[in-house]
Formats: sequence, structure tokens, C-alpha cells
Amino acid sequence: MGAQDIWADALKEAESPETRNAGLWAKCFAEADGDEAKARAAYIKAKVAAVNPPAAQPAPQARNDRGWCPVCHAPIDLDALYCSACSSNLTANHLRPLKYKPTNPAPNAQQGHSQKNSYSPRGVQIVQTAKSRGTYIILGILFGMLGIHNFYAGRHLRGALQLVSTCIFGWFVIGLIITAIWVLIDLFTVTEDSEGIRLT
Ligand SMILES: [Zn+2]
Repeated sequence: MGAQDIWADALKEAESPETRNAGLWAKCFAEADGDEAKARAAYIKAKVAAVNPPAAQPAPQARNDRGWCPVCHAPIDLDALYCSACSSNLTANHLRPLKYKPTNPAPNAQQGHSQKNSYSPRGVQIVQTAKSRGTYIILGILFGMLGIHNFYAGRHLRGALQLVSTCIFGWFVIGLIITAIWVLIDLFTVTEDSEGIRLT
């Protein structure tokens, strides 16, 4: 049935009291304030609209609480605790879904919490392995007074301050005491290197 046929049928129906829908006609007649010509026009429009329903509503807008996985850049909920695409445990790694779609290439999705990948300017992938907490503690015990354990963990400023505290203020003993307490605190509290990678 062509488009014109629908209009022709609707017109035929509107003009014949036997075939037209009494309820719809009454509604159109009332809304046209008893003007039969207007009522007929309204009736035809209503019939055609019923045959040709308006185009389906466009898909609802994407939820604005969408985020992106900081590891594999897959779209995930902004409040997601883990990524369903790469199964990274975000909370355990102190990560939060990204608010805006990242533009840089997604790092390798299979990276775990003990590895962090980065891209050199030439595109060669460098895999940084997590540093050992055991090594950190041993260095702290043996050379902690010189801040060596923090240099190992990439915490250069902290290491340098401990070195300065020992070498310069150490002459006044107080520097030695400060560094010793500081190293002790390090050994019990530092669990990540400077880039936030967990010491394993
Ligand atoms: Zn992911």
C-alpha cells in the first residue's frame, strides 16, 4: 500500500459515518468545535499517523557516568571497582576509572599490578618490573642511613634528605637519630615505589 493509498483510505473513512471510528470521530469533531471540515481533516491526520507511527525515538543518550579503564581504556562505569574488559582490580591498585576518554594508546591490557608498561619515543615497549619490597627492606637495614633504599624505590628526594640528614646533621647525633627513625618508618610503611607500583 502506497503512501497516497493510506491518505485516500483515511479520507474515505472520514467521509462515511458507517465506516469511520465513532470514538475517534467524536474526539476530532469535539476538538474542531463542531466544524465538520476541520474534524474530517483532523480525523484523516489521526488515521494516517496511526498507520505511519513516528520514527522510533533515537537511542537514549549514553550515560554520562561512563568512565574508561585506566589500564586498557575500555569503557566502564565511572564507579567501577574492577574492569570487566581486562579484569584489573582497580581498587587494589589504587586506580580510578578515567573521566574522559584517554587519547593515548591503551597500555597492554594484560599488565598486572606488578608490571607497568610504557612506550619509548620510538614505540619500543619497555616493561618495568615491580621492585622488590624485600630488597627495599634489606637496603634499608644495611644502607638506610644513606637513603639507599629510597633511591632503589625511585624516591630520590626522600633518599637525598636522609643522606643529607646523616652526613651533615649526623655530626650532631640528632641527624643520626632522625634518619634512623625515618628509615624505620619507611621499612614499615613504604609499599610502593615513586611511580605508585607496589613493591612485591
Ligand atoms: Zn581494563
